[in-house]
Amino acid sequence: MNFKEKIRVIPDFPSPGIRFKDITTLLKDGPAFHAAIAEFTKFAEERKADLIAGPESRGFVLAAPMAFAMQKGFIPVRKPGKLPHETISVDYSLEYGKDSLEIHTDAIQPGQRVIIADDLLATGGTIGSTIQLVEKLGGIVVGVCFLTELTYLNGREKLQGYDVFSLIQY
Ligand code: IMP
Repeated sequence: MNFKEKIRVIPDFPSPGIRFKDITTLLKDGPAFHAAIAEFTKFAEERKADLIAGPESRGFVLAAPMAFAMQKGFIPVRKPGKLPHETISVDYSLEYGKDSLEIHTDAIQPGQRVIIADDLLATGGTIGSTIQLVEKLGGIVVGVCFLTELTYLNGREKLQGYDVFSLIQY
C-alpha cells in the first residue's frame, strides 16, 4: 500500500506557510484506512500493549479502532475541561500555538503497557505531553505510532528512548 499518495497536502492551512497534511483522504479510503490500522495493530501487538491511548481528536480516530481490533481498552487524552472525572494535565506547544492535555487519573494502572497513536509527528510536543501523562500515572509507554512524520521538525529527537513508528515520512 502506498500510504503517502492517500494523504492530501493543503498549502497555507491553518495559517500562511504551513503545508497541512490532510489525512481525511486516507480515512475515507476503506482499504487504506484498514491497512493503516492493521499496521498499527501489528506494532502494538508485538509490544504486548494492554491499552491504546490517543490525543484528541485525530488520535482517537486511530487509537480507538486499534483498541477494538485488539480487544484492549482505549484511553482518551483530551483538551482541558472535557473529561468529567478527576484529571491530571500537562502543558505543551504545537507547531502552531500552545495548549494543554488531560487524562483521567484512574485511566491507567501502574505497570500497564501503553501504546500511543496520533495522526502526525511534527515537533513532538503533543506526543511528548501524552507520554508524560501516561507515565505520571505509572503506565509504561511501549511504543508510539503515527500515520505521518515531518522528519525535518526533528520530533523524534524529543522521543529518544521510545519505540517510534510512522507509516509516512515527509
Ligand atoms: P507536534 O505537537 O508539533 O508534534 O504536532 C503534532 C500535532 O499537531 C498532531 O496532533 C497533529 O494533529 C497536529 N498537526 C500539526 N501539523 C499538522 C499537519 O500538517 N496535518 C495534520 N495535523 C497536524
